Amino acid sequence: MNGHCTGKVRDSAATVHLKRETSRKEAEDESRLPALETAYRSILRELGEDTDREGLLRTPLRAAKAMQFLTKGYHETIYDILNDAIFDEDHDEMVIVKDIDMFSLCEHHLVPFFGRVHIGYIPNKKVVGLSKLASLGLSYPHRLTKQIAMGISEALQPKGVAVVIEAAHMCMVMRGVQKMNSRTVTSTMLGIYLEDPKTREEFLTLIR
Ligand SMILES: [Zn+2]
Repeated sequence: MNGHCTGKVRDSAATVHLKRETSRKEAEDESRLPALETAYRSILRELGEDTDREGLLRTPLRAAKAMQFLTKGYHETIYDILNDAIFDEDHDEMVIVKDIDMFSLCEHHLVPFFGRVHIGYIPNKKVVGLSKLASLGLSYPHRLTKQIAMGISEALQPKGVAVVIEAAHMCMVMRGVQKMNSRTVTSTMLGIYLEDPKTREEFLTLIR
């Protein structure tokens, strides 16, 4: 909703620095692939699989690459997640960004959980593009809501931030603990959302 506002874009030195960090990280990932591949081959064998059968020949390498990709949210910072763009805007009405798709790996079982993030904040002269949240690495919904809220808080110094995640946990769905279509809801409220029940209510109504 607010991803397209026409404020002045600020390209921070921090962003440039973080991009350099990212390419260093890529080289490091590459150098770790052989060890990861060996580890996955060993996991498959311990699970009773024949790793020489055709379908599994390249699986350890593929799994290693996939896992690096799926956990890369770990190396990304909130500034990447926030779309690299912070805008100056002179209003202080609640900004709501609803239904941002997210996926992550449950840090307890390494099984995916996925769902949607809803974010609300009351700006303090700064707003941010929040369209693509996507992959967020190893985590857990409660920790994620906190990380996102803290990140926005740090980047924008708003008067308050509210983050709600509705997620389906495959580890619970597959074990029958959670139904396929049910969602676990977690939230973090900071600043005015914590202090003022009315603001919190307004946010919760608007994301419904
Ligand atoms: Zn789990």
